[in-house]
Amino acid sequence: MCILTGVKRVIPETVAIIGAGFAGSALACALTKAGLTAHVFDKSRGPGGRLASRRLEWIDRDGRRCTARLDHGAIGLSAVTQGFKDFIDQAAREHWLAEWTPTPAPGGLPLEGHARLHVPVPDMPSLCRRLLSDISSTWSFAVDRLQHDASGWWITAGDQRHDTPFDAVLVALPPQQAAPLISPHRPDWARSASIVSMHPCWTLMGVADSLEPAIDWDLGRPISGPLGWVVRSDRKPGRTRIAGQDHWVAHARPGWSRQHIEQPAGEVLTSMQTALAGYLGQPVQWQHCTAHRWRYASPRAMKAKPSRPSWWDPALGLGVCGDFFGDSGIEGAWQSAGSLHSAVLDLPFDAAAPGSEGSRMPLPITRSTFMKTLTACGAVPATAATAQTMTDEKDE
Ligand SMILES: Cc1cc2nc3c(=O)[nH]c(=O)nc-3n(C[C@H](O)[C@H](O)[C@H](O)COP(=O)(O)OP(=O)(O)OC[C@H]3O[C@@H](n4cnc5c(N)ncnc54)[C@H](O)[C@@H]3O)c2cc1C
Repeated sequence: MCILTGVKRVIPETVAIIGAGFAGSALACALTKAGLTAHVFDKSRGPGGRLASRRLEWIDRDGRRCTARLDHGAIGLSAVTQGFKDFIDQAAREHWLAEWTPTPAPGGLPLEGHARLHVPVPDMPSLCRRLLSDISSTWSFAVDRLQHDASGWWITAGDQRHDTPFDAVLVALPPQQAAPLISPHRPDWARSASIVSMHPCWTLMGVADSLEPAIDWDLGRPISGPLGWVVRSDRKPGRTRIAGQDHWVAHARPGWSRQHIEQPAGEVLTSMQTALAGYLGQPVQWQHCTAHRWRYASPRAMKAKPSRPSWWDPALGLGVCGDFFGDSGIEGAWQSAGSLHSAVLDLPFDAAAPGSEGSRMPLPITRSTFMKTLTACGAVPATAATAQTMTDEKDE
């Protein structure tokens, strides 16, 4: 079923969104608020994509089972455009995000865009979980085929096909993962997506004995060596600090990551541990440490930028968005989702005002705000809203 607009353009009623990273989650939230029925599919066990936190588990030297949760993807959110600033401000007022002005490590490169950040609390994927609350979803569903027939779009993963078709399908994936899905329907888009270059990133995450003397900084940008960023994950707001433990996340530089992309994780981990100890100027006693490879970490600027930061084919009911349409990480993902949201709803687009599309995205209204409104009207008694937390291990 589709809705006809005054100028005979069709707006889909049901949309499948492939990918529940920030772009897919923001898009699903915005289209749902506009009255469409959205269903998200993701190959992982929960939302977030590169807004990622990993639960580590290990047995310590005294035989006790220990756990910790570290943020091993994006470090935090920062905004340049007014639309994204507004989103961040409102999400902060709703306590979805906490402001973080990290203390920089001495003697490193300046933090620049990372000097004032916001981080989702209590962990990185929570932002997407909140955007998707009340939106239906299917997890652990690695979509490998999109089929279109007279009844609509069918979504398939291996031998499993989702039981109902959709009026439209919106793909919110890194370009290399989007290309094979869209190729049978829009080979021109698939060609453009497959040549977009993404930076890889090897990431170390681990729990170590606290350094003596204790360090008093949060975020470091080494001047040289394999590491580009060093983060004390447990010093971010809303994270749990445990006496005697330091939680380290270190991201290797893109060039180093590319050079070592096919190297076994164990060898990469050893190199990164050595680099981190060198940077800290002392040995690190690891309790548990692992390495994660992000094959598609962050977009490089697209050589030929499309006129708007998303693709939408209204005749087919097929769209694509994602951070690769911009070159500014999370904010680029937001703007691309905003662009596709406008396109699907057939809203006008002002190409001369970059960022204006993002500002059209509905801002988050949490259940607690909604309940407060109802409570103020005397409709329901006051209740406390709770945030759902999940354990999720992400793929690259
Ligand atoms: C280590 C690291 C550090 C970063 N630091 C920052 C930072 O500090 N600031 C910043 O702005 N940006 C940063 N970024 C970039 C930022 O995280 C991304 O730009 C942003 O999160 C991208 O969102 P997205 O929704 O476009 O894609 P993604 O987050 O990649 O979402 C895509 C989703 O699609 C799913 N998926 C993939 N294939 C399939 C399939 N076939 N079927 C179903 N689901 C599928 C994935 O599981 C994922 O959930 C960083 C990224 C990394 C990796």
